Amino acid sequence: MIVTDVVCPFCGCLCDDLVIEVDNNEIKTVRNACRLGASKFLKHKKNRKKKPIIKENGEKKEVDFDYAIDKAVKLLKNSTRCLLYGFSSTSNEAIEYGVKIAELLRGYIDNTSTVCHGPSVVSYQTVGYPSCTLGDVKNRADLIIYWGCNPLNAHPRHLSRYTLYPRGLFTERGFLDRKLIVIDVRETDTAKIATKFLRIEPNKDYELVSAMRSILNGLDIQQDTIAGIKRDEIYEIVDMMKSCRYGVLFFGMGLTQTYGRDRTIDNAISLVIDLNRYTKFSIMMMRGHYNVTGSNQVFAWLSGFPYAVDFTRGYPRYNPGETSAVDVLSNKEVDSALIIAADPVSNFPKEAIRHLLSIPYINVDPFYNLSSKYAKIYIPTKIVGVEVEGTAYRMDNIPIRLRKVIENEDLPSDEEVLKEIYERLIEDEIVIKERYSI
Ligand code: SF4
Repeated sequence: MIVTDVVCPFCGCLCDDLVIEVDNNEIKTVRNACRLGASKFLKHKKNRKKKPIIKENGEKKEVDFDYAIDKAVKLLKNSTRCLLYGFSSTSNEAIEYGVKIAELLRGYIDNTSTVCHGPSVVSYQTVGYPSCTLGDVKNRADLIIYWGCNPLNAHPRHLSRYTLYPRGLFTERGFLDRKLIVIDVRETDTAKIATKFLRIEPNKDYELVSAMRSILNGLDIQQDTIAGIKRDEIYEIVDMMKSCRYGVLFFGMGLTQTYGRDRTIDNAISLVIDLNRYTKFSIMMMRGHYNVTGSNQVFAWLSGFPYAVDFTRGYPRYNPGETSAVDVLSNKEVDSALIIAADPVSNFPKEAIRHLLSIPYINVDPFYNLSSKYAKIYIPTKIVGVEVEGTAYRMDNIPIRLRKVIENEDLPSDEEVLKEIYERLIEDEIVIKERYSI
């Protein structure tokens, strides 16, 4: 059987043109995907479990799903303050139940943007977000800038599907109609194919953006070099930006995690706003996990805030740096956790990991990762976009429906597990009365 128009559930590009050959419920070939996307389909059996695993009396044992969910509900009910974390590699439908559980339990809920584009999210709430869709980029953009990101390695089809190479409505000659600028601290693979590459000194992005904005606003630059870039080159880049027909600035963690964080992003967004006095210009975050954008969206629909939401007072609050997952763990403010489709043990700071490992936590994930290994309860699930359908948001905030390619009768989906936990918590009126002082 050939399944067409399959959406790749790997990175924020959500390429929706994959063609997959399935024989007897086995994935045989994957066409059109890059190597990252293809591996998600072809190696979907790697690091999988068929049964939940719980740790009791120091020993791990396999149990059935009903028992594992029952134990998870008891663990959450008996905790005073819980943290829900992850959500960027699952469907919007599952995320919705995550937010409902956090609200019901008066806990904290956060997604992985807290450790990637969190500063960007804070910034666009401050200065706005003059963005566009990837379709606009394909059809109109004649100047592409990648700042602090390396899509040839992290989003391999970004250039071929949306930015540099495709032939669009007003870019009929494809890459012949476009220029590419790369700004980075090292000469990445993307930098090697750029029309112009600026090697910036680490942590000097704010200075370079400010210099560009000064020139745009009619001031003259006196210094010979700024952020390691020669004065003439800065003028040349600003000229390229001003004279293009439609420019787009894509930025990654090389910009968000540099000194200044959200202030640097404020400045970069303001640069794009300034450029719109001369020409049409847009800005867009390069989102990593395939549905990290969706986690921001669904959190915001339901609570009003895109990440780091605190329900402990019975109503949603938001204060990144105080209510984000890393902070509530490092400050030992939670005594249980529910980790969904994420692996914080492998990438959180030491203090946060130390506390996470000292409290009982539940891990719901299709793959058995490092966080699953140390979980009190591990519940395996279906892979969204491979074994179950679901909705996700592309990096340009376009919702896309992911398809199911093969059957997996052994496992429930993330959505089913979270829904079951939520409904069993709701059934327990005592918990609700106690928490809400009814
Ligand atoms: S670019 Fe991203 S979404 Fe597209 S095929 Fe590769 S990994 Fe999948």
